[in-house]
Amino acid sequence: MTCDICGSEGKMYKARIEGAELKVCIECSSFGKVIGIVASQKDEAESNKFRKFEGFEGLKPEKIDKLVDDYTEKIRKGRESLGLNQKDFAKKINEKESLIQNIESGHYEPTIGTAKKIARFLKIKLVEEYEESYEKTKQQKSDTFTIGDFIKLK
Ligand SMILES: [Zn+2]
Repeated sequence: MTCDICGSEGKMYKARIEGAELKVCIECSSFGKVIGIVASQKDEAESNKFRKFEGFEGLKPEKIDKLVDDYTEKIRKGRESLGLNQKDFAKKINEKESLIQNIESGHYEPTIGTAKKIARFLKIKLVEEYEESYEKTKQQKSDTFTIGDFIKLK
């Protein structure tokens, strides 16, 4: 049970404060007139918690960007259709040749930002939006995903 005013826990008192009947701690009860002692209302507290949980917006599915499955092939084909080798292509998009090699060979998954840059240059679609639940979104959104992690996962 927590105080309606300051949120502290402990024994609660029913008090009329500025016309409203509130459940408050002994300290906050001094803001108004104490009209009684609040009996254990565990059930009410629990249901309040549950309502808060339900309203948690992070639980709603949200749209996140995801690489298309065949991005390696799409990048290679797109690059070849422009008559560029990996080195020249890397230069055009201001990236290292090794990055292009690793992406096209599937050894490195580009970040969404890099993928979008490549997609813009090659005029292809490499990123698609999809909806995910909160749990998965949290994992997908991790920005600390390194090349090392990716290899470990494979
Ligand atoms: Zn209080």
